[in-house]
Amino acid sequence: MTDLQQLEVWFITGSQHLYGNEALKQVEAHSKEITSALQAAKSIPVKLVFKAVVKSGDEAYQICMEANGAPSCIGLITWCHTFSPSKMWINGLKILQKPILHLHTQYNRDIPWSSIDMDFMNLNQAAHGDREHGFIMSRMRLNRKVVAGFWREEAVQNQIGAWSRAAAAWSDWQGARFCRFGDNMREVAVTDGNKVAAQMRFGFSVNGFGIGDLVQVIDQVEESQIERLIKSYKSSYSLGTPEKSSFTKSVRDAARIELGLRSFLARGGFKGFTTTFEDLHGLAQLPGLPAQRLMSEGYGFGAEGDWKTCALLRAFKVMAKGLKGGTSFMEDYTYHLDPKDPKVLGAHMLEICPSIARNKPSLEVHPLGIGGKEDPARLVFDTAPGEAVNVSLVDMGNRFRMILNEVSVVAPDKPLKKLPVARAIWKCKPDFKTAVSAWIYGGGAHHTVFSQAVSTEMVEDFARMADVELLIIDEGTTLRKFQSELRNNEVYYGLKNWPSG
Ligand code: MN
Repeated sequence: MTDLQQLEVWFITGSQHLYGNEALKQVEAHSKEITSALQAAKSIPVKLVFKAVVKSGDEAYQICMEANGAPSCIGLITWCHTFSPSKMWINGLKILQKPILHLHTQYNRDIPWSSIDMDFMNLNQAAHGDREHGFIMSRMRLNRKVVAGFWREEAVQNQIGAWSRAAAAWSDWQGARFCRFGDNMREVAVTDGNKVAAQMRFGFSVNGFGIGDLVQVIDQVEESQIERLIKSYKSSYSLGTPEKSSFTKSVRDAARIELGLRSFLARGGFKGFTTTFEDLHGLAQLPGLPAQRLMSEGYGFGAEGDWKTCALLRAFKVMAKGLKGGTSFMEDYTYHLDPKDPKVLGAHMLEICPSIARNKPSLEVHPLGIGGKEDPARLVFDTAPGEAVNVSLVDMGNRFRMILNEVSVVAPDKPLKKLPVARAIWKCKPDFKTAVSAWIYGGGAHHTVFSQAVSTEMVEDFARMADVELLIIDEGTTLRKFQSELRNNEVYYGLKNWPSG
């Protein structure tokens, strides 16, 4: 996965010639100082590059052209230390294809009460300069993030950090390829959708392959590679069911599938893949352990042909890079409906990412019960208590919609001794009934991306970059307001008349 340090956010300061050279030199020096401070901020994982003090329409246009053409540039931060008349920004902003963050800050934190004079006033004009800058972006209906406050303030830097993580994920999606083995599982609706619309809106493509193409690569895997991989399994995981007669063969088959998958994905330059347990012809077992291990390395994954969740998981993996807490494919599986303490048990048949494991995962072999294949190998573990988000991406026909629920992971009431899959137990915000009813009114899927690293703020920034609807279910949600938001959004997105869904 791309090193976030290699990605650049360009810092651009708006001004004009009116101020004269001396003032402009000061503006540039101050801008460089702010850029360096942001570069040094722990919460900002990307490279900050001061680019220019923009003083004319030509310069604004040039810098936006340059940003569009620079693969390492994932977004722009703009700020108007002094006043920058916004008509000169129109042509540049019109062609800009990179995300934008408008930093509404000021070089000085405090008003110098006893020494302030008109020279100081004329240099430190962000309070009105940034209003002009904001107007033109609102007038042009441009999506952007506005961050307000002193540039050394931790909260301000955290907001910029969240946005730059979202911008990294957005950049990662552009031109990304996801590999889909087989098609959708039978008649499931929510995992399907318009892949052409997705490519137009999100920038990634979904490429279908017959499972036989993968089997061919798996058959070429060498025995010595398998031996090496099994050794690394043994050092990474505890062996949960070594007494089973099928254990050795099953783990061996899983290792063979992992090596084949790895090589297939690498050759095709894929950033994620989907499988379906209905289409496994030529595979000994459903790829459980291989999917779990590839997810933990940053690959997107979706079960049952779910290419939308696969792509979303990849984006979350990029946003989460280097942060504490894991990120996984997830499914709302079953409920604990005690009215005093309702909870959700999230899991999947096999494919949950070990990045969310509380302890060393246990490598186990058990029958699957469906699919009619041999017993697959999988990692079994619990998830550590703490805050998390569940996010779903669905196709509403005239648009895509993201739905996010903030949840709190809790320990199971009792050890789940007989459950042979990885799992997480959580409580929904604001409460179980409101959350699941809102989720169902919103059409949220049973499949989600679950993350203990990605914040709601990052997802909001990401949705804004994608210009996609986002419904948030959190402490403040009431069903009445939520349903009203659903109705209002129908009108808004209907009027917007997107060509690409
Ligand atoms: Mn599923």
